[in-house]
Formats: sequence, structure tokens, C-alpha cells
Amino acid sequence: MTHSSMTGLRALNELTLVHPDAATTIFNLEDYSVLETQILDYGRRRILIESTVESGCPGCGVIGARCHSRRVQGVRDIPVAGPVEVLWRKRRYFCDETLCERKTFFEATVEVPARARSTRRLHGALVDAVISSGRAATETAIAHGVSWWLVQKALTMAATKLPNVDLLRPRMLGIDEHRFRSVRFFKNTETNAWQRIEPWMTTIVDLDTGQILGVVDGRDHAGVGAWLIKRPLEWRLGFKSSPSILQRRSGKR
Ligand SMILES: [Zn+2]
Repeated sequence: MTHSSMTGLRALNELTLVHPDAATTIFNLEDYSVLETQILDYGRRRILIESTVESGCPGCGVIGARCHSRRVQGVRDIPVAGPVEVLWRKRRYFCDETLCERKTFFEATVEVPARARSTRRLHGALVDAVISSGRAATETAIAHGVSWWLVQKALTMAATKLPNVDLLRPRMLGIDEHRFRSVRFFKNTETNAWQRIEPWMTTIVDLDTGQILGVVDGRDHAGVGAWLIKRPLEWRLGFKSSPSILQRRSGKR
């Protein structure tokens, strides 16, 4: 038996956790167990985790059974009784389907899908902070110690995850404007002209539910107008045609 197939077998045996240990229970990240914890300088804590679920090959769907190798990847997560540094010892599996073009693949979970660098629960917490507490995205980023980009990405993902915005009938729309970086200029390679790239992004929310309905570029009403014009006619008819349809939410710039 080769070394890699041995580690593969061991990995399979480790998969189910009937009685999770205390650290795993407290850390409470779905489909992961805590392998090791470390207290660093200034009370910082490092948590090494490993997944406890099987992963299928993204090419063919066959469940990985033989571990090829492991690598440690940093994962941004919510604070758990204070800030934590999370490291995932991620398995790479051989794909055993002979017809599949992929030879190996990295495991992925619902909390940390393929190529993700942060947990789904962190995204959820960021979106909640913006839409439930009405905090601006920049404040949320500072409060959670993450980059503005991550907050915006979470908001965008929450927006694109909507089943179908056009089936909703919002009564009042709110808009949040977020400056996400300084103005940048890019040279358009086709026209050779310099183009100003908007550092603003506007999030459109249903004021009654806090649900994000759309994310558009820019901070003027042009972007919002262009977005609104694409909505069903009933949307626009349903609104009282006054500028108060678009209400700037309090606490914003
Ligand atoms: Zn495969």
C-alpha cells in the first residue's frame, strides 16, 4: 500500500464525528472539526480545522476516496468569542474515475465552497449587519475587521441569490451608497481613451423587508434609474411617482 492511499483511508475513517470534542462543539462550523488550537501573542487564537464530509470531483461528481495531499489554507470567519485566525487543512483527492479529465481535486464544503476564502456564515453576518442593522458597508467592514470588498461581495452574492426580484412587489425602495475605493482611470484598449471607473456602488433594498433587490454601479440616480426601468411595469406603476420612492437610508453618507 502506498503512503498516499494509506492517508486516504485514514482520512475516510475520520469523516464521521459522533461525539465531537469541546473545541469543535464551541467553534460550531458545520462540516468541520477542530484539530488543534493555539493561543498566540496578544490573546490571538489560531484554530486548525479539517472537514468531516466527503467531497465529490467537480468534473465528474465521483466522491474522493484517496487523499493525494493536504495543504493549509487561511479562511476568514466570524469572531468566535473574539477574533480567530482559522486555518483549514484541506485535502486534495485523486479522482478515481478513469474517464474524468481531472486527475485531482480539492475538497469543498457548503461553508467554504471551491475557491472561497471565507465562510458562508461570515458572508451571512456581513449581509445581516448591512441590511438588518442598516449599517453602511464600510462600517460593517471595520466592525468585522474585513475588507470593504468582502462586504460588497457578500452583498452582491446575496443579491444574485434572490430567486427572482421581478416576482417581488416592494412598496418602498431604499438606496445605500458605498464608496469602495478611490476613483481610477483605465485606458480603453479599443478606443485608446482614458475612462473613469466609478468608485461608488449603490445597493437597492426593499425598505419594508430590508431585502437587497439590486446592486448597481455609481452613486447618481442614472444607475438606479437604468436598473428600475428593467423591472416589471407593475413595479413602477405601484410606486407613487415622486422622488420619495428612493429613500436614502439613514446613517449613510
Ligand atoms: Zn473526476
